[in-house]
Amino acid sequence: MTSSTESAETVAKGFQELYGRAPDGVWAAPGRVNLIGEHTDYNDGFVMPLALPHTVLAAAASRTDGILRLHSADVPGGTYELRLDELEPGPDGGWAAYPAGVLWALRAAGLPVGGADLHFASAVPTGAGLSSSAALEVATAFALDGLFSLGLSRARMARLCQHAENDFVGMPCGIMDQMASASCTSGHALYLDTRDLTERQVPFDLTVHGLCLLVVDTRVKHTLADGAYASRRRSCEAGAAALGVPALRDVAHAELDAALRRIDDEEVRSCVRHVVTEDHRVTEVIRLLDAGQVRAVGPVLTQGHISLRDDFRVSCPELDLVVDTANAAGALGARMTGGGFGGSAIVLVDQDRTEDVTRAVRDAFARADFTAPRVFTAVPSEGAHRVV
Ligand code: ADP
Ligand code: MG
Repeated sequence: MTSSTESAETVAKGFQELYGRAPDGVWAAPGRVNLIGEHTDYNDGFVMPLALPHTVLAAAASRTDGILRLHSADVPGGTYELRLDELEPGPDGGWAAYPAGVLWALRAAGLPVGGADLHFASAVPTGAGLSSSAALEVATAFALDGLFSLGLSRARMARLCQHAENDFVGMPCGIMDQMASASCTSGHALYLDTRDLTERQVPFDLTVHGLCLLVVDTRVKHTLADGAYASRRRSCEAGAAALGVPALRDVAHAELDAALRRIDDEEVRSCVRHVVTEDHRVTEVIRLLDAGQVRAVGPVLTQGHISLRDDFRVSCPELDLVVDTANAAGALGARMTGGGFGGSAIVLVDQDRTEDVTRAVRDAFARADFTAPRVFTAVPSEGAHRVV
């Protein structure tokens, strides 16, 4: 594996070949896994992501003629050339909609952003629930912030990237992915209140506890799940409306049973049950980590998976197979991570059982005739930053 500086040199070289000049800088933004707190971020709730060492790199230089040029080393096809004054939200923008949307969002916020040339290269698997889209947006935001000396805070950039994904790309995501990519720090998980973006960096060094967090990418792309995501989101909003609260975050866990009795619709009821118990699980994981009871986090992850599978109904056979197989092979706990319908699962496991659990999952996938999964260790890494 090359170091990030070497990769940055490669991206800078690619930029030079494409655009015939050196970039003004290279910026990096990571993908993430979420430890706990799934589908809570658009309910004003709690999340706990950590950044991966895998990043999107953006080499960039400013332009003075109001033109935006975009190229990705990871997508076949040429360079997009767009006029800033013609940027408009809409479907079918392809991958360029993510970075173009960020520029659009910055300009819509009245920020002095001009044209730019951008060239991307990424180590974040796409559509694997590891948030390559947010990494692409956040890399763009950091690059533009640097090119035009905007001095934006990490949280502001994350909000603008979410605005881009919601209103330019058309994906009604919450704020977790963008905040994770912008604000995580190495060696920590980010405990985030998505209502006011209050954050706490929670030390998360599993090796001192003899533990390991595995990421299992099932290779099932979740790209067809956008409609289901939007429909879950609508169910959550219907639940909050039925209960007369601004968001499901405002339903206390102790009052959940009483709240559920006030909801007629079965689909809405089970979505509410997932979100309220999931917020409670985040609180529980924080309590356990603060108390140094890291092993006890495992069963909470598995409970989270069961809730996502049975109540929120966003799992799939491959994700369930990872969780069931890992737990049967001696993992402490496991769950799907990210939006669901494919993508990745995380597994908390004793270091000395890592190989056994990995082999068990690989074998189970082979027996089920599923595509071989990609398995790696989640090393909590730093959020977006300038590399060169
Ligand atoms: P996830 O964020 O879980 O990876 P999404 O469906 O939200 O999945 O985002 C994936 C999309 O982001 C890709 O289909 C592509 O449009 C865009 N994307 C991600 N990485 C890159 C890249 N390196 N180059 C170009 N586009 C990318
Ligand atoms: Mg995404």
